[in-house]
Amino acid sequence: MADIVLKLERIKRSFVSGDQDLDVLLDINLEVKKGELVGLVGPSGSGKSTLLHIAGFLDRPDQGRITFQGEDCFQLSDRRRTRLRSENLGFVYQFHHLLAEFNAVDNVAMPLLTAGVPRRDATRKANDLLDRMRLSQRKLHQPAQLSGGEQQRVAIARALANDPCLVIADEPTGNLDWETTNEVFEAFVEVVQLKNTSVLVATHNRELIKRMDRVLTIRDGELSEFDKNRQ
Ligand code: ADP
Ligand code: MG
Repeated sequence: MADIVLKLERIKRSFVSGDQDLDVLLDINLEVKKGELVGLVGPSGSGKSTLLHIAGFLDRPDQGRITFQGEDCFQLSDRRRTRLRSENLGFVYQFHHLLAEFNAVDNVAMPLLTAGVPRRDATRKANDLLDRMRLSQRKLHQPAQLSGGEQQRVAIARALANDPCLVIADEPTGNLDWETTNEVFEAFVEVVQLKNTSVLVATHNRELIKRMDRVLTIRDGELSEFDKNRQ
């Protein structure tokens, strides 16, 4: 199926803690379609971050298969898997992880420069993304000179720099107040919808959940549909 970007099949993941196994993911099945916004909710410790790491093939499941853009990720060599990730995936975390000594444009351009894109093109792309994230007036600011919401919008622009087909976001607005969360998310949704980018996002934010096409909840190691309009 060409319009399925990411597919997780029968994923299992346990951690050894002390002398016992902690079974975090028991039987996870998930498909994300092109352009689809999928939310992931669940109590703290339920395995959201573990699942997102596996979905971005940063962590290897104990069992199960991850297919990304038709490639069986863990059948690839480490090098090809890393390349598949850096060329096609974007990540956003709760903490922005911006480089303190670089300004917004340079932070956003960084993944492109690392990938060998010429500086002029990388800078043009970074400028365009910062405009779209409504940061036209903040391009030359360093992270410490930006508010929390602005920092997070720069981090989102950076995650979008390589035109990923999927963005994985782990509680991206977890550190922000309600109003700032809405601002950040408006801009984020606008850009991903424009580019038909798929999104898989773990969040507790109700407003954000309502913007999703589909919301899943994780409990006892399995996913189920979550009614996003539930109060
Ligand atoms: P969530 O993101 O939903 O809060 P996590 O995926 O971070 O949950 O964690 C799920 C459970 O797995 C927690 O009990 C956590 O302590 C445990 N866990 C996560 N990563 C590891 C690890 N590398 N080693 C041992 N236990 C881990
Ligand atoms: Mg987490």
